[in-house]
Amino acid sequence: MPVTPSVDSPSSSHRAAAEAARPAGTWGALADRVLAGGEISPAEALAVLDSADIEILDVLSAAWRVRYRHFGNTVQLFFLMNAKSGLCPEDCGYCSQSKVSDAEIPRYNLLSAPKLLEGARLAAERQSKTFCIVISARGPTQGEIDAVCRIVPEIKARYDLNICACLGLLTPDQARALAAAGVDKVNHNLNTSERFYPEVCTTHTHADRVATLAACRSAGLQLCSGGIMGMGETRADLVDMAMELRSLRVESIPLNFLNAIDGTPLEGTARLTPRDCLRGLAMMRLVNPSAEIRIAGGREIHLGSLQPLGLYAANSMFVGDYLTTKGQLPESDYRMIEEMGFVITRGAEAAEPPCETVAG
Ligand code: SF4
Repeated sequence: MPVTPSVDSPSSSHRAAAEAARPAGTWGALADRVLAGGEISPAEALAVLDSADIEILDVLSAAWRVRYRHFGNTVQLFFLMNAKSGLCPEDCGYCSQSKVSDAEIPRYNLLSAPKLLEGARLAAERQSKTFCIVISARGPTQGEIDAVCRIVPEIKARYDLNICACLGLLTPDQARALAAAGVDKVNHNLNTSERFYPEVCTTHTHADRVATLAACRSAGLQLCSGGIMGMGETRADLVDMAMELRSLRVESIPLNFLNAIDGTPLEGTARLTPRDCLRGLAMMRLVNPSAEIRIAGGREIHLGSLQPLGLYAANSMFVGDYLTTKGQLPESDYRMIEEMGFVITRGAEAAEPPCETVAG
């Protein structure tokens, strides 16, 4: 796997020069334009990632104004269920479940219907809006599609949950079958830019992933697609990915921060600072103003004590564990949300009507 173990991180002197060259009020003006229905350019998105540490609060404030317009002070929780673990024939270098990973993780085939129902019960109990059924696979077998299509109506009959299916590459027929069964959205991450994709995976292409998203869109499914920061990509790669997600009109964007798990090809390569993560979330919000943006895997590791600040740009996060790694306790998430004055929402309603006069 030809992965470059470096993160494109500008030096502090580079950032200081960028800050000195920037007119006062730049970030507020950017938010004004986005709130007025405009778009930010790739160069402006790059400037967000390139902003100096001293500008972090101004950058977050710009992202917050946009987030508040669309989501008020609400936070949506998602619950992940690893329904088939560690059996993937693909070689994604960041993934503990790939064929090239020696990570010590559970390996099992598709869980039984009672176990999936138990996962849904837990998702509802944990105040999740969405239950994510995830399998490790290049794509689902017919048997797996049938099993998911059988269980989804049962889950929806028992619990007030949206269903997101993450089953790998999908054909148009498979996407239509999932939509007919009541699946609300499909997750299929772009993960990174088209240019960098061959550096992290050689068994399928970026174009394969885009084709799956197109099949899901044609089937009437909502799209959940995001990426991973910290794999050795450049900041321009992150911008390209954000712009591509915008052009695909993706409704839900999880932004992961690489958890470089021992035994994976990327083991030991992630060198993100908490401020890098905040800049990434803010950039994603400003490029994709109305998308649900989720602080995803790696938030505890990379954001550390700055986790709450991430919610000024993102409006969503996972509650509980990730696919093969532990998350922080749900009680810690609930407390963080409450202490920020935010509220968990399970539907489209906002607890506090978004107000355009919020300071920014
Ligand atoms: S296709 Fe999915 S499960 Fe398989 S190795 Fe890649 S990321 Fe992991």
